[in-house]
Amino acid sequence: MSVLDSLRAELGDAVSVDQAQLTQVRTDKSGHASSAPPIAVVNARNAGDVQATLRLASEHRVPVVPRGAGTGLAGGAIGGEGEIVLSTLGMNRILELSVADQLAVVEPGILNGDFNDSLREHGLWFAPDPASRAISTIGGNIATNAGGLLCAKYGVTREAVLGLKVVLADGRMLTLGHRTVKGVTGLDLTALMIGSEGTLGVIVEATVRVRPLPRGGAVSIAAYFADVTNAAVASAAITAAGLQPAVMEIIDSRGLEAIDDHLGVDLSSLGAVHLLVQTDGPAAEAEADEALRIIRSQGGEATMSSDPAEAERLLAIRRAFHPSLAARGTVLIEDVAVPRSKLPDMFREITRIEREYGIPIPTVAHAGDGNLHPNFVVTGEIDDTVWRAAGEVFEAALRLGGTLTGEHGVGTLKKRWLAAELGSDQLELQRQVKAVFDPHGILNPGKVF
Ligand SMILES: Cc1cc2nc3c(=O)[nH]c(=O)nc-3n(C[C@H](O)[C@H](O)[C@H](O)COP(=O)(O)OP(=O)(O)OC[C@H]3O[C@@H](n4cnc5c(N)ncnc54)[C@H](O)[C@@H]3O)c2cc1C
Repeated sequence: MSVLDSLRAELGDAVSVDQAQLTQVRTDKSGHASSAPPIAVVNARNAGDVQATLRLASEHRVPVVPRGAGTGLAGGAIGGEGEIVLSTLGMNRILELSVADQLAVVEPGILNGDFNDSLREHGLWFAPDPASRAISTIGGNIATNAGGLLCAKYGVTREAVLGLKVVLADGRMLTLGHRTVKGVTGLDLTALMIGSEGTLGVIVEATVRVRPLPRGGAVSIAAYFADVTNAAVASAAITAAGLQPAVMEIIDSRGLEAIDDHLGVDLSSLGAVHLLVQTDGPAAEAEADEALRIIRSQGGEATMSSDPAEAERLLAIRRAFHPSLAARGTVLIEDVAVPRSKLPDMFREITRIEREYGIPIPTVAHAGDGNLHPNFVVTGEIDDTVWRAAGEVFEAALRLGGTLTGEHGVGTLKKRWLAAELGSDQLELQRQVKAVFDPHGILNPGKVF
C-alpha cells in the first residue's frame, strides 16, 4: 500500500489532495516556493492524527513537513515533491486557563491574536508579539522562537513556554517541561524543541506562561534624527542606562520615505530617521523622562505623550513599514541581530553594502534587543546579486558578534550560512542531535541542517 493509501485508510477526510491546498503549502510568506507540490496535506484534528501520520510516514520513510499558518519568512514550512505536509492549524483549542498559576494549556494551531483576545477578559496576556500575531499560530511561534516589538522587555517565545507535548518522528508522544515556575529535572528538552523549526518533533500541546496586563498607561516618545547612527547611539545609550522600554524601534531614512509615500504623510520633514520609544508599567513616566534626556543629548528632536491614541498612531506608522516596501517591488525581508552596543556599526555596514551593490536596503530595527530587519527591495526576482548582498549583511553581523537570525529562523533560506556561525564541530553535533530524534531523517528534511 502507498503512503497515501495508508494515511487515507487511517485518517479518512483529514487527508487532502485538493489542488488549491497542495499549491498553497508549496510556499510561505518568504515568497520562496518548492519546485513541485507535495503528495498530500494531513489536516490534523488531534494529537492522535499527528501520531498516526508520523508513524505511517516513518514506516514508509516519507518526509513530513510540519506547518502552522504558513506565515514563516525562512521557507521552513514549505512542502515539496514526495513529502507530506502535516498541518496543525485545525488544532486550535484552549484546553485550560489557570489564573491562579498564570498559565494556559493550548493546542498548537490557535492564532496568537485569538489566544490573546481570550486572555484579555481575564486581565491576562501572552507576551510574545510577532507582528504576524493576528495570522500566525502558537505552534509556529514556538517552533521558530518568535520575537516581536515587546520582547526586549517581556521576552521572546522561549521565556513564555513551560512545557510541551511533542510527537517524535516514529509517532511516540513525549511530555516535556513542567507546570511549575521552576523546574530543572534532567536536560531541558523543552528549550531544545523551541526554535527547532519542525526538525525534531511536532508540537501538539503547549503549556505557556501568561501574565497580568501591565498596569497604567504607556508613555510614547516620537524622536527624529538627522542620521541613523545617532539614533542607534541614542537607543544603545537608553539600554546602557538600565532603562527597559517596552518598545524601541528605529526606522531608517529609506524606510521613512517609503512610509511617507504609502501613507501620504511627510514624516521625513521632521527628521530623516525615526526612533519610537514606549515605556510602560509603574515607572513609565520616570523612564520616559530619562530616555527623552538621552535622545536630546544625541541630537534628537522629540515629543512625548501619554495619550493612548498617540501611542496607537505611532505604532501604526511602525506597522506600515513592511506594506510600504511591498508596494515598491519584490522584498527580501532579512533578520540579523547584534549586541545592542554594535547597532551603530551594523547600520554603517548596511549603508556600505547598499552603496556597493546599488540595492536599496531600507532597515527597521527592534533597537531594544539589537535585532535588525534589512529589507532588500528590487523590481524583478530575488537573484544571486541580492543573495550576495544579503550574505555580506550576515557576515557583517557575525563579525560584530551577532547572529544570522534574531527571530525568523534558518529554514531553507539561510542554510548555507549556518556553518559560518556555528562552526563545523557544533554543526556536526547539532546534526547528531537531530539524528537521535529523527533517525530516518523524515522530519522537515532539507531545512536548517
Ligand atoms: C507580516 C509578517 C510579520 C512578521 N513578523 C514577525 C515578527 O515580528 N517576529 C517573528 O519572530 N516573526 C515574524 N514573522 C514570521 C512568522 O510569522 C513567524 O515565524 C511565526 O512564528 C510563524 O508561525 P506560523 O504559524 O505561520 O508557522 P509556519 O510558517 O507554518 O511554520 C514555521 C516553522 O515552524 C514549524 N512548525 C509550525 N508548526 C509546528 C508544529 N506544530 N510543530 C513543529 N513545528 C512546527 C514549521 O515546520 C516551520 O519550520 C512575520 C511574518 C509576516 C508575514
